[in-house]
Formats: sequence, structure tokens, C-alpha cells
Amino acid sequence: MLDQEKMLHNFENMSRRDAIKTLGLIGASPYLINSQAVASQKTNAKIVIIGGGAAGITVAARLDRALDNPDVTIIEPNPKHVYQAGHTLVGGGIIPPEKLVVDTKDYIPDSSKWEQTKATNIDAESQKVTLENGKVLEYDILIACPGLHYDWDKIEGLDPKEIGSNGVHTIYTLDGSVKTWEDIQKFAKTGGKALFSHPNTPIKCGGAPKKIMYLMDDYLRKQNSRDKAELTYFASGGKMFPIPIFEKAIIEQYNSRDMNYMLHHNLVKIDTAKKIATFKTQVRRKGAWDEDLEEYMDIVEDKFVDKEYDFIHIPPPMSAPKVIQDSPLPWQKGDAGDLGLIEVDKFTLQHKRYNNIFSLGDVIGTPYGRTGGTVRKQAPVVVQNILDVLNGKEPSAKFGGYTVCPIITRYGKVMLAEFDYTGNPAPTIPGLAVDEERWMWWVMKVYILEPMYFYGMLKGIA
Ligand SMILES: Cc1cc2nc3c(=O)[nH]c(=O)nc-3n(C[C@H](O)[C@H](O)[C@H](O)COP(=O)(O)OP(=O)(O)OC[C@H]3O[C@@H](n4cnc5c(N)ncnc54)[C@H](O)[C@@H]3O)c2cc1C
Repeated sequence: MLDQEKMLHNFENMSRRDAIKTLGLIGASPYLINSQAVASQKTNAKIVIIGGGAAGITVAARLDRALDNPDVTIIEPNPKHVYQAGHTLVGGGIIPPEKLVVDTKDYIPDSSKWEQTKATNIDAESQKVTLENGKVLEYDILIACPGLHYDWDKIEGLDPKEIGSNGVHTIYTLDGSVKTWEDIQKFAKTGGKALFSHPNTPIKCGGAPKKIMYLMDDYLRKQNSRDKAELTYFASGGKMFPIPIFEKAIIEQYNSRDMNYMLHHNLVKIDTAKKIATFKTQVRRKGAWDEDLEEYMDIVEDKFVDKEYDFIHIPPPMSAPKVIQDSPLPWQKGDAGDLGLIEVDKFTLQHKRYNNIFSLGDVIGTPYGRTGGTVRKQAPVVVQNILDVLNGKEPSAKFGGYTVCPIITRYGKVMLAEFDYTGNPAPTIPGLAVDEERWMWWVMKVYILEPMYFYGMLKGIA
């Protein structure tokens, strides 16, 4: 039996009850409790939510608990809801894709109305949202959380239809995750060069491209074919991870496992027929002598580097969906503005220019975040602050920037990176070395977080 099959077997044999008991034994109950103690309040306010993904559903469920018979409308085109944090597990052959998909209708709270279409226009002055089906919704409170759009066209030569074939892969879609796992198994037989890129925009779960590389490395070892393969990670920025203690641990793990990495290399072009990926980087060279400054000029030039591959994993560059980019909600300047990310106060999550607009999830232009774990902590803050605004008060709840990235470093081990706006680790369970790979975090990632997401977070109780 393949290790992989054993793992699936173990998974099926471990009931949710056993898994929760296991986690209880290791004291992880703080991960399960995040409920909101607010009394049910009456209001006639019309509340509109753009996007019924992780953030939209979670906030709607919490509004349902906090308000007496609320008037909430969720705009969400997709009839299926996917637990995206499980994509990596599908890409690594750990769980089947069906475990991640549910019907959206089963998660829309009873008190909410569902418009199954896209929002196409936001008029923040007259407080109206236009829908693709032609309807116009008026609102008193708007919650904008349509997640991020994938900009595949920013990689020259890449036709998104080719993803999943000919060695080009992504775990950023569910289909893509299934194909990634199929090809990892084939790659284990042939060996070759595997590349893993990381774009120069904020992305959902910035750790995910590394997780799939760790899983490939470990899978190849289990298949005794690691020596036939060369694995290289290309980070577009100057760091492997934004928080120093986790970055140090990642670099040590990479070095000890013969996993290569290059910094300042951004994937800009791909030739899928020739299997060549082109990365943009920069080189400095000494220029002419400057008589006035009495030193050599420092010249920085773009350089394009071609790399051959047999397998490449690509997370797409990302930006805010068009409806947000075309609206007055994005930052007016700076990088977040270029990508259309929404201008909110990073603590209250209230829009900086429109007091009746709140935003959360992947689409906001704040440091770190872009994980489901972040949404879980943001949602009660947004709901409390909406109640404050409805009661004519200033927003009282504050979000501290909590971000969680369970970095799967091999089958059976996870290093749990939790941090916040301070740029320091923010462990939910203190007293444990945060930079250690642990089996207990693997148990939490593989067995606990998915039921907690569907039965706790999306129901507004965890
Ligand atoms: C590969 C991968 C691995 C991940 N790993 C983890 C992890 O380990 N841990 C973790 O906590 N998180 C992880 N995440 C991140 C997590 O899934 C996201 O942070 C979370 O889903 C963000 O929630 P959201 O509601 O902002 O966006 P989404 O959940 O993406 O929802 C946005 C919704 O808005 C809808 N929408 C878009 N445009 C419009 C429009 N114009 N009108 C109306 N609706 C619209 C979309 O259909 C979608 O349903 C991972 C994500 C991926 C892709």
C-alpha cells in the first residue's frame, strides 16, 4: 500500500469525534471558540452583502444571531461553496475534492435573502448596488467581501485552459488541485525539474505555494525518487515569509531538504510548448564615475531569466474584482489602490470614506491576512461595529490583524504560523515553540479545521 493510501485510510478511520477529542487533549479548544456575546437587537436597516464566500456567509450568520429578523441580502453568483483551505490537501492527495464542496443555499442563513447573481456597480453616494440581473438594491449598510480575482493574463503566454495539462499546475482552483495531485504522482516516476512561483501581488494564503512544494518533496522521498528531481521556489519579493521567525525556519527546512529558492524572481511569461518559464529579476551594476558625488553610479537593470521545467506550480497574480475596481471603494493611491483593494480602517474594518460601508476577507487593503482564519476573527468585529453604527455610536471593536497559515512541511507535520499587525507571532495557544513542525497541528489542519469551518464558522458560532 502506498503511504498515500495509508493516509487516506487513516483519515477515513478517524471519526470527527475522535479528532476533536485528540485536539481537546492537546488543548486546542481556543481554535474552536470565537462566539460573539451580543444581545439580539431590532433594526429596520437594509443590509447588503456583496460576496457569499467565507466572509459573506460568516458575517450573515453572525448578523442573523445578533439582529432580530434582520433585512439582509447576500449577492453571490455561485451555487456551490468551496472550502478553499482544503485545496492544498487535495493537491497533496490527502483528501478527495468532494469533501470541500457544499451547496451555497444550505449556508445562506434563513433570515437572509439570496440574489444568485453578480454585483456590477456600487453607487456609494446614493447607497445602491446594481446587479447583473438588472435589479438595483438600496442599502443602509453595505458589506463588501467579493474576495480576489485571478489575473492569469498578467503571465504572458499562459492560457488558463492549459492549466492542469502539460506540466502546468495550480492549487488555486479545485480542478487544478485534482490535476496537481495526478501530475505529482506521474512526476515521481519520471523525475525532472519542478518550479514553484509566487507572484508580485498579494495572494490568498501566501503559504500555499510553499505547502505544495513541501508535499511534493516529501512524496518524492516516500517514492524513493527524490534524487531524480530538482525543486526550486521563485519568490517575487525579497523574503520567503514576512515574519522573521517563520522565515528562518522555512529557510532551514529548505536547505536541509535540498529544496532550492530564489528571491526577487517574478514569473512574467511562459512558453508551454517549449516548457520554459521566464522570470523578471533585477541586477545592479557599477556605472560610470560620478565627478560630483565622487563615487560610481549604481545602475539597476531588469533582467529576464529563462528556466526549463517539467512541472510548474503557478499561483495567479490577484486583484480586486471589477465591481470593486470600478467603484469609489479602493485606496486612492499606493499599491493597494493599483490592485483595487478596499480602503478600510485596519482595526475597525469600516471604510475610511463611507461610514456605512464595511469590508473584510481577501479584498481589503490591509497588511497580512487573506486567510479563512483571518475572516473568522474579522467577522465578529464587523458585526459589532455595524451594531454600533446602527446605534449611532463609533465602532468599538478592533481587529488586531490575526493571520494564520498552517504550513504543511511534510505529510504528518505542520508548522503553525500565527501572527498579527505587530509583525510578531500571535499563537492562540501560548507556551509552545512556534517554529516547530508538529503532528498535532497536522491533526488540526487535516481533521479539525474543515468541520470547524462548515459547522462553526459559516454558522456564526466559531
Ligand atoms: C489554495 C488555497 C489555500 C488556502 N489555504 C488556507 C489555509 O490553509 N488556511 C486559511 O485560513 N485560509 C486558506 N485559504 C484562504 C481562504 O480560502 C480565503 O482567505 C477565504 O476564502 C477568504 O474569504 P472571502 O470571503 O474574502 O473570499 P472568498 O471565500 O473567495 O469569497 C468571495 C466570494 O465573492 C463572490 N464574488 C466575486 N465577485 C462577485 C461579485 N461581483 N458579486 C457578488 N459576489 C461576487 C465569489 O463568487 C465568492 O464566492 C486558502 C485559499 C486558497 C485558494
